[in-house]
Amino acid sequence: MVLGSGFAGLWAALAAARRLDELGVAVGTVDITMISATPYHDIRVRDYEADLSTSRIPLSALLDPAEVEHMVGEVTAIDTAARVVESTAGVHGYDRLVLALGSQVVRPDIPGLREFGFDIDTYDAATRLQAHLRRLAEGPADPAAATVVVVGAGLTGIEEATELPALLAETFAARAVAPRVVLIDRNPFVGSDMGVSARPVIEAALAYAGVETKVGVGVVAIDERGVTLSSGEVVPAATVVWCAGMRANPLTADFGVDRDRLGRLPVDDYLRVHGVPGVFAAGDVAAAKMDEEHVSVMSCQHSRPMGRYAGYNVIGDLLDKPMKPLRIPWYVTVLDLGPAGAVYTEGWDRHVVASGEQAKDTKRAINTRRIYPPLNRDRDALLAAAAPELQAAPGH
Ligand SMILES: Cc1cc2nc3c(=O)[nH]c(=O)nc-3n(C[C@H](O)[C@H](O)[C@H](O)COP(=O)(O)OP(=O)(O)OC[C@H]3O[C@@H](n4cnc5c(N)ncnc54)[C@H](O)[C@@H]3O)c2cc1C
Repeated sequence: MVLGSGFAGLWAALAAARRLDELGVAVGTVDITMISATPYHDIRVRDYEADLSTSRIPLSALLDPAEVEHMVGEVTAIDTAARVVESTAGVHGYDRLVLALGSQVVRPDIPGLREFGFDIDTYDAATRLQAHLRRLAEGPADPAAATVVVVGAGLTGIEEATELPALLAETFAARAVAPRVVLIDRNPFVGSDMGVSARPVIEAALAYAGVETKVGVGVVAIDERGVTLSSGEVVPAATVVWCAGMRANPLTADFGVDRDRLGRLPVDDYLRVHGVPGVFAAGDVAAAKMDEEHVSVMSCQHSRPMGRYAGYNVIGDLLDKPMKPLRIPWYVTVLDLGPAGAVYTEGWDRHVVASGEQAKDTKRAINTRRIYPPLNRDRDALLAAAAPELQAAPGH
């Protein structure tokens, strides 16, 4: 059983189906079932983009050809001793489990955040935000209506902040108000996670997009009129987008093992959860060694191969066949910077190797082709794409 239909879950399910084929296991001998909150494979990394029309793919187009059953249900509890999963669709027993329930943006207990805060954590959240902006554009021509505060100048917040000016300009084109985007972070610099090499590129891109930045300040309250900062300043804004931090799905607490500071389960090189027989974990719920010094990063980059290897290995574990260890010898980041292009870094120290339009071409290729499954409902193509092999780095 696979839980979750994101980058890790989709590829785990297809890789398990592929491995059964490879071993010549007769159809019907081993059932693969996926439970996920939505009937879609969402290309979550695109949630900051203005056009989300191709970022949601029906699971039926991906899993039916591979004879993987899929159920829509919100998983509510996992009992690893009884090997039972509870969801809003029922109670489901399993022989082997691949946990791929992803991560969630951290929502601290700040007054007003729950009522007035938006985010781009999921497809539904991102489309909710866009609908809210369109509604505001039909209301009074108030400067706060066209002002968006983005909280958290990490990778997601930077991609969102640099994309917003163009989206606001288009949404508010008929109104006599100037769009304003303010990016706030309590760290003294934007993009602290990106390392010093990329910082000047990011700062220049924010300035080029017309994004204001306020660093070294936190948010203490949010209401319908705006955001109150720890400095006492109030930024009048009808929209706040919360992008500050990610944590593994809270169901990782059901496993009774120590989790890392991001709430992730420790897994071995085969993606087996340490100390929990029969359970594999992949993607943002798992912390796997990528090499002798580094563990996986919550990323699409790592979730997809983790899913493929978990799917291959879960069948090996079930049928007592060989498994494959996962190690990834390269690490890159490709950060969209809106009208200024993108920045491409290599290595765990994230040194810049390309920026501007050159890096943007790579980003586009990743977001629209590289991370997509085959969409032609072709069983062989889907299973071939799920092979436990590492892609080369995207290049620049
Ligand atoms: C705006 C944005 C931009 C990003 N940009 C990048 C980037 O440029 N590069 C990069 O590498 N990473 C990026 N990431 C991170 C990347 O999206 C995640 O690391 C990746 O999606 C993790 O894959 P996953 O399969 O573990 O989880 P997800 O893709 O989140 O999938 C989780 C699945 O579990 C399901 N689920 C969750 N809870 C339940 C439940 N209780 N019951 C049933 N189903 C449930 C969900 O519906 C979903 O199908 C970005 C993330 C965001 C939000």
